[in-house]
Amino acid sequence: MGCELCGKEELLFKAIVEGTLMQVCKNCGKFGKIFAAPVSQQNKKAQQKTEQVFDVVDDFAQKIKKAREKTGKTQKEFSMELNEKESLIAKLETGTAKPSIQLAQKLEKLLGIKLVEEQMEGTVEKRQKTGVLTIGDIIKTK
Ligand SMILES: [Zn+2]
Repeated sequence: MGCELCGKEELLFKAIVEGTLMQVCKNCGKFGKIFAAPVSQQNKKAQQKTEQVFDVVDDFAQKIKKAREKTGKTQKEFSMELNEKESLIAKLETGTAKPSIQLAQKLEKLLGIKLVEEQMEGTVEKRQKTGVLTIGDIIKTK
């Protein structure tokens, strides 16, 4: 199947051209309003994201507290080593604040614990799908 305007066999975009939804090539897409990238490209992006999504473990608070206590350092001493505020350490250890991935990785190195984990693929895929649902629905119903 080629471009609906010029017939070129190319990567096709969904675009609104003069009020009509069409599949057109990149060049013809300039005449209308492209609202969805080619399907093949979307899939690639989604896959890449799936591989790169990390999250901080749920029980980070206990893990940090335990590991920090093991080192024999007070929250203050530990915060200085980490170059963060003492109040932040207290919040992390009670679970009232969640560390960023960067901070969690720093904590991992300092404490020798595991705080960052790759997210389950299923969870990520669900998130991805809800993100493009509206576009997908429009295409399907047409
Ligand atoms: Zn075309």
